[in-house]
Parts: sequence; structure tokens; C-alpha cells
Amino acid sequence: MDRADRSKKEPVEIICPKCRYTEIIYFPVDDLPLCPKCKIPMIISELLDEGKSY
Ligand SMILES: [Zn+2]
Repeated sequence: MDRADRSKKEPVEIICPKCRYTEIIYFPVDDLPLCPKCKIPMIISELLDEGKSY
């Protein structure tokens, strides 16, 4: 991503690959949070602010 407006934060849905727990965070972040249940790193599920049609 190469946007000029770097102050704008992107809402991103992250999901635990193990238990499917989801959470919304706002990019950019230093680190992806850990799943509160599994204590493993969560992964990005989808960009919520995406205008693409799929
Ligand atoms: Zn989990």
C-alpha cells in the first residue's frame, strides 16, 4: 500500500486461526495481538475498508 495519507487508520478484522475468535484493530499497529484464549498470534481476516468488488 502506498498512500500519502498515513495518518488515517485502517480498521482490520483479525481472527484466531485456531478458535476463530475475531477482533477489530486499527492499522498501523506494532504487533498483532494474541488470541486471549489460545495465546497465539492472530492473523488478518480481511480489510474492512476495502472498496474492491470480488
Ligand atoms: Zn484462539
